[in-house]
Amino acid sequence: MARKLYIKTYGCQMNVYDSARMADVLAPLGYAKTDSPEDADMVILNTCHIREKAAEKVFSELGHWRKRKEAGADLTIAVAGCVAQAEGEEILNRAPFVDMVVGPQAYHRLPELLAQAERHKGRKRLKAGATAPRLGVLDTDFPAESKFDHLPEALATPPGPVAFLAIQEGCDKFCTFCVVPYTRGAEFSRPPEAILAEAERLVAAGAREIALLGQNVNAYHGAAANGRIWSLADLLKELHRRHSAGSDAPRWRYTTSHPREMDEALIRAHGELEHLMPFLHLPVQSGSDAILKAMNRGHDAALYRDILRRLRAARPDIALSSDFIVGFPGESDKDFAATMQLVRDANFAQAYSFMYSARPGTPAALLPNQVAESVKDERLQALQELLREQQAGFNAAMAGRRVQVLLDRVGKKPGQLLGRSSYMQSVVIEAPTAGIGQMLEAEVTAGYLNSLIAQPVGGPDSNLGSGSLSDQEAA
Ligand code: SAM
Ligand code: SF4
Repeated sequence: MARKLYIKTYGCQMNVYDSARMADVLAPLGYAKTDSPEDADMVILNTCHIREKAAEKVFSELGHWRKRKEAGADLTIAVAGCVAQAEGEEILNRAPFVDMVVGPQAYHRLPELLAQAERHKGRKRLKAGATAPRLGVLDTDFPAESKFDHLPEALATPPGPVAFLAIQEGCDKFCTFCVVPYTRGAEFSRPPEAILAEAERLVAAGAREIALLGQNVNAYHGAAANGRIWSLADLLKELHRRHSAGSDAPRWRYTTSHPREMDEALIRAHGELEHLMPFLHLPVQSGSDAILKAMNRGHDAALYRDILRRLRAARPDIALSSDFIVGFPGESDKDFAATMQLVRDANFAQAYSFMYSARPGTPAALLPNQVAESVKDERLQALQELLREQQAGFNAAMAGRRVQVLLDRVGKKPGQLLGRSSYMQSVVIEAPTAGIGQMLEAEVTAGYLNSLIAQPVGGPDSNLGSGSLSDQEAA
């Protein structure tokens, strides 16, 4: 009988990708994915370490799984992802009932770890309140071999309409606030041939939107078998050449990008490639040059403004998104005012903003001039209010326009489906449930802060399954 695998994923889209790959690795051992935690024979918590709150969640979630074990469940508990990488020993000490801890670069070795964990598990049963012996196995190496060469090709679960494809991993940028270079390791680009083959499989399995992923995705520089180095623009062009024909051609996006790596060819690609979504998430973090320098971002606010100008020249309707950190050590009122000004100038379609969270082991955590929590909170409120206004304005301006929508789930009310526009807005639409996975053209009747209301052009089931005109045409 198949054993049931429950994976809980925290954090970024790369973690979503990794969770799917872990399921692929475990499928040949008889593990089938389940969405209900109660059925699980094995649970993997795929964790995020980016901010303190994200990391804390793991320990409280582990408490819940401990109770299941105490109640007699024959359960294997694994912790994966960036908390596993950063705090592997600590997890096994604080939560000795955990069977396995595996870092993001080592999960292709899950079968061996599982075999080891099974041997250990037989030795002791956990009693309520008792201190469990520490028996868990730990693998947080950065192995010399790439995990990508050891992952199975077969997909354990077919992708939904939106699929993720990791093309690059790790980071050499060392922003002073960030744990990623320590938890994910050095920048690594997969060979283009492997990416093209994986894209082929995803398209054949029905994916209609493919997000190319990397912690620094636009730093992609994959070496082909003939020695040629491909850039992200090269890769997007080739994917586009191979998959543009027919009414079910997928649309493409990439995330997350760094301003320093936004080269001219990539900017131009936004004007040239019909199926490249008119959307870009380009984190800036701050609008103050002094803070950008202290963050070691390697660019100033003027360069960021210039990139946005060139992107808009290449693709006038492009929707722009960003990340911001408020309250970085030493951030003054004047620095924060520069961030607000950059936001006013940029006019974002959406954005994420966070209070600075000191991460152990990062240089900024040691800076003396930490900002008070109350000041961080006040700045975050002000920034988020401005970003909400911009988002609501961007969405409201869509009323009367036609957008391309990829339907990906059922809505709350009967007869409603939800999807995303190619500008990454949530769209509520009336369409038959058979439409999930379809791309359609829809006319926006209203735009609100968090979603658009739209009608399929020509009626509820008129253009299901058809290709659609590009948003640039519709804009
Ligand atoms: N590679 C991307 C880049 O260059 O900006 C970002 C990767 S990070 C996973 C996602 C976002 O988390 C960052 O853009 C930043 O805004 C936020 N973040 C990272 N470290 C943080 C920290 N210590 N405190 C608060 N936010 C943080
Ligand atoms: Fe972190 Fe900076 Fe690397 Fe982005 S570029 S992952 S923020 S170190």
